[in-house]
Amino acid sequence: MSKKKILIFGGGISGLTVAHECIQQGFEVHLYEKKKYCGGKAFGLKNEDGLHIEHSIRVYGSSYHHLFQTLREIPTTNGKSVFDHLTGLPGVILASWENPSRNQLLPTAYATPKIRKLLVLLRILRSWHITTREAIQFIRLAMDFAIRSDARKARLYSQKSFAEYARLDAYSEAFRQFLTALLDITVAAKPYASADVILPLLNRILLPGTVAGISSSMNVMNGPTNERFIDPWVTYLKSLGVQFHMTSSLDEVVIEADQVTRVVVNQTDVTEADAFVLALPYQHVTRLVPSLHLPKKNHREWSFSYQFYLRDVPPDLVTRQTFNLVLDSPWKLVYCIESEPLWKNVDFRPDVRGILSVTLSNVDTPGLLTHKPLHACTDHEVQAELLHQIGFTYPELILESRLDATVAYLPEATYQQRQAEFIGWDSFPPNEHGYRWLTDSTLFIPEATDGSAISVETNLPNLFLAGEFIYTSYRIPTMEQANESGKLCTASICRYFGRSYDKAGQKRPEPPFRSLRRIDQWLHRR
Ligand SMILES: Cc1cc2nc3c(=O)[nH]c(=O)nc-3n(C[C@H](O)[C@H](O)[C@H](O)COP(=O)(O)OP(=O)(O)OC[C@H]3O[C@@H](n4cnc5c(N)ncnc54)[C@H](O)[C@@H]3O)c2cc1C
Repeated sequence: MSKKKILIFGGGISGLTVAHECIQQGFEVHLYEKKKYCGGKAFGLKNEDGLHIEHSIRVYGSSYHHLFQTLREIPTTNGKSVFDHLTGLPGVILASWENPSRNQLLPTAYATPKIRKLLVLLRILRSWHITTREAIQFIRLAMDFAIRSDARKARLYSQKSFAEYARLDAYSEAFRQFLTALLDITVAAKPYASADVILPLLNRILLPGTVAGISSSMNVMNGPTNERFIDPWVTYLKSLGVQFHMTSSLDEVVIEADQVTRVVVNQTDVTEADAFVLALPYQHVTRLVPSLHLPKKNHREWSFSYQFYLRDVPPDLVTRQTFNLVLDSPWKLVYCIESEPLWKNVDFRPDVRGILSVTLSNVDTPGLLTHKPLHACTDHEVQAELLHQIGFTYPELILESRLDATVAYLPEATYQQRQAEFIGWDSFPPNEHGYRWLTDSTLFIPEATDGSAISVETNLPNLFLAGEFIYTSYRIPTMEQANESGKLCTASICRYFGRSYDKAGQKRPEPPFRSLRRIDQWLHRR
């Protein structure tokens, strides 16, 4: 019997996951990616100048389950897997540009006793002028997801934004600012985001699970993302028989008699597939197949990074060991220094000793130096703002800088000439300098009013979806959600062909306090 042929479009985490799972299920798998490299938003490459560019600082939380399962399956050398490339962070620094004496390491290492973590958290909250009553409320909100039964969660969180559910208006400015900054910096989420998304996130921050083989609830790859994660994955998938078609852009999906009959890639017809998978960003799926009528997403957030290449690494060891979340920075910045001890044995350009990587998550608030939001600034002004907002005091160490490749800052005339390259990108109107900011890595954070959740199955039986925007048990657009969506997608493809597949059903570990959830269920039984 001939193998069923699956075409996957998009080589990000979700597309690679579908390829990984489908090839293991015995399908013939072809993956089409419009860029020269795979990884999608999870990319980190060396460019032609020998400089490493990461899309952003990338955290692998211990609440991840499906992604870790995949990382363990990707072999590297000496019988090891990509999972072994994870490095546990001792903690994260909650920092302040206004008052650096507030900077404190919130421990995340498993070795630190839980009670100590809680005491440090309370001390941090106090240093941000949060009263004891509000500190208790913070902990209560973070526990909410763990202590309510599923039925009550569905009822209480339904159609509510986090701000409404938490009644943020009733609290002090200090409390609101702290909480919203934490969400903005960690996942670019704003208070409009659905309670159903934010409450599990807070719970995972306060009560992260433990995973065998890692030492902290916050982890990073020990080197550039493509070198340590994506490239070994692609090599492994090729060895299993996945056929990669790079620089191949899906231009059109042709639908006839309620089926996808063919697709057009790089203006050329590609036909004869048994199933088609769109593992593309949400905005590209809605553009390419408007008839899917996916629920509309009104809010999109920008988050991307700048890399500053350093001739020497600043002497401040604490800053070097982990990430720094600058909570009161208007552009909601997180930064780290990519070098030892976070990155190990990385082949830097000879004059570079490390990279200061700064990720921003708020493009609407005026900056401190320019008093303008990002889109009104020049590229140069943005860089000055970033360094100022993180309080970087070693400008003499900076050799050069780079913007990540998912963002562009272009003169309007150039943009008009090259518009075809930017189809599906999000853009601000030209600023007063006649330049335009554009991004291809928009994040869509689920809102309370988003309507029905997006599934991997579509109204066309042979067309499937995968991606960070799919409704999964994780809720937040992350690599974990993209990976889980890939498994859900494979499960649907297998069902379509009458086969069984069980990986998607493997449940993530339950949060602690099961007995409290049972009591909650009993107390509120109808
Ligand atoms: C700044 C930032 C920081 C983040 N940090 C973290 C983090 O720390 N931890 C975490 O878990 N997650 C993080 N995320 C989220 C995570 O990176 C994404 O959710 C995940 O990588 C999305 O994977 P995906 O496969 O769904 O989509 P994408 O990564 O967007 O992949 C889609 C792919 O489709 C390709 N494509 C697009 N159009 C076409 C076309 N027409 N034809 C063919 N191919 C096409 C794209 O080139 C891309 O490779 C971050 C996201 C951002 C933006």
